Amino acid sequence: MNKLKDGWFSEVSDLWPGQCMSLEIEQVLHKEKSDFQDIMILKSKSFGTVLVLDGVIQCTERDEFAYQEMIANLPLNSHPCPKKVLVIGGGDGGVLREIVKHPDVETVDLCEIDKKVIELSQKYLPQLACGFSSPKCKIHYGDGFKFMENHKNEFDVIITDSSDPIGPASSLFEKSYYELMKNALKPNGIICNQGESMWLHLDLIKSMKNFCHQIYPVVEYCYTTIPTYPSGQIGFLICSTNPESNLKEPVREFSAEEVKKLGLRYYNSDIHRASFVLPEFVRQALSQ
Ligand code: SAM
Repeated sequence: MNKLKDGWFSEVSDLWPGQCMSLEIEQVLHKEKSDFQDIMILKSKSFGTVLVLDGVIQCTERDEFAYQEMIANLPLNSHPCPKKVLVIGGGDGGVLREIVKHPDVETVDLCEIDKKVIELSQKYLPQLACGFSSPKCKIHYGDGFKFMENHKNEFDVIITDSSDPIGPASSLFEKSYYELMKNALKPNGIICNQGESMWLHLDLIKSMKNFCHQIYPVVEYCYTTIPTYPSGQIGFLICSTNPESNLKEPVREFSAEEVKKLGLRYYNSDIHRASFVLPEFVRQALSQ
């Protein structure tokens, strides 16, 4: 199927058979094949600028905050002092933008496989890519899996903001990657990974949650709602190496003033807690 047809982009993929999100497009701003993936930047009618990798929507200007604020603040506010943070993927810069705002964070290393994604985001999505100019941030270009092999006992929080488990990100969904992340964490560290949709990938989430339990004493699945991700929902696998951690309860609560000052539009302490409350079919599937 032609994904760009009659002024519409349709996100057709084997990852969500028989369904797709379509956006009316005003302009194709950029299209190229990088060393790793097909990249498209679109100007859509109702969701602003859109980044598409290998035919899959990565972020849109209108709803990106629902994802970035949650994947950043859920782990950061579950850790008593998240000074040193690592991001794997995240080439659009949105997660970085949220992390560098956090009052406790001193340094953020970001390892992105595709330099082109960062360059194009800086050009077409400056409101996301602004995090790259923070003095707290250091960028590394390369495969996140290999990066993890070379780092031990270094980070308080690791966030994996990856694309889906086909293409360059497939290794980031494997048990061995979760083992490497554990070794890269300092004591009492926390990881938070893009954890796919409960409406589409419950079997994958279940198997990942199961192997995470063999590595981390505390493992949770929580989620955000976001219209342009498949089925309008995406989850996070969040794990702690501290058996005493209660990830559902923020150890650092942002006051209403802080929420305003940080420019947060989705995350607050109430939604932090609420994001762990799962529908019954998910609760049952993940408790087996
Ligand atoms: N929030 C988006 C989502 O949930 O679909 C992900 C956005 S971010 C643009 C994903 C990034 O992960 C891409 O820029 C991609 O190049 C990067 N990536 C994929 N595989 C990677 C790997 N093995 N190591 C490092 N970065 C990787």
